[in-house]
Formats: sequence, structure tokens, C-alpha cells
Amino acid sequence: MLIDVDKLTKDGLTVNRDFEYPSAALVEEDAALLKPVHVELTVSKIEDQVRIKGRVSTLIRFNCSRCLTPFEFPVDSRFDLVFLPEEFEEIKEGLEEEDVNTLYYRAPQIDLREVVLEQLNLTFPLRPLCAEDCPGICPVCGAVIRDGACSCAVPGGDLRLESLKSLMKDKK
Ligand SMILES: [Zn+2]
Ligand SMILES: [Zn+2]
Repeated sequence: MLIDVDKLTKDGLTVNRDFEYPSAALVEEDAALLKPVHVELTVSKIEDQVRIKGRVSTLIRFNCSRCLTPFEFPVDSRFDLVFLPEEFEEIKEGLEEEDVNTLYYRAPQIDLREVVLEQLNLTFPLRPLCAEDCPGICPVCGAVIRDGACSCAVPGGDLRLESLKSLMKDKK
């Protein structure tokens, strides 16, 4: 969806729609989009500065980085982005501190679909986990520990603890 920057006003344009993307567009490997990406945004302009503000929501499936089990990850993010014309980026290169929060657009249009995809990718966790305390997989047989004890695990025992115990037994 291309937005003509020249036609924007300070009151803004309201965008309320769904965007579809192929799952391959997601930065996280093996992630899948389970729903279209719903956006409720206002795009406004004051002088050369374009502001995109609102909400993006969807449902994504990740594979847990510890136990590899697929899990659903709801996204409901608020954005408030300010874009400057790309000429400003060159001016800024001479400045010492770079403001990573400033984005740039190339006049005369902004591709809203691209902006939404980029922001969506930024909301992803660095290492997706099915649960904060995901115990991962059994280091011996590779079974998912959360699914129940595999034959290597001693009920109620920790594998490392068990091997430590047997080490201590040997010393006696
Ligand atoms: Zn997990
Ligand atoms: Zn096991």
C-alpha cells in the first residue's frame, strides 16, 4: 500500500485493514503467520515529517528455541514512528550520535506494507521460547521434557543431579 506523502495532512489518513505476507518475509526462521496482519494506523504529516501511529496485531507460530515445539505467539503492538525525508539521513551522518529511532522515507511515497512488516519483525523475541521456564529436551535421547519423563530420566530427579549422585557413590 503506497501512500503519497504530498497528499498527507496533519489530520492524517486512517488506515484500518489487513495485510497478507508470505511466512518467508518473517526474519525468524521457521516462523509462520497464522493470520493476516491487522493494522489500525493513522498516517499524518507536519511539514516534512511523517508520523505513523497505531496498532498492529496478528498471530505467529514460532518453534521454541529450546525444545523445538511449535507454539503460538500473539502480537499486539503499538507503534509511534516518525519518518524524515531521506535527505535528512545524509545530513545526520555528520552528527556524532545516531538516533536509531528515526526512520527515513524516500519521497514521494511510503510503502506502508513494508513499514508494517519491518515493525512486525522488530517485535519478535530474540530467542522464542514456548515458556520462560521451558526445560528443553533431554540431553540423552532428545525427547521433549515437558511431554513427560523419558526412559533416561529418573522420576523426580534431575539428570545432572543423578550423575553427581552416582559419582559420589563410586567414591565410597
Ligand atoms: Zn520449549
Ligand atoms: Zn531422555
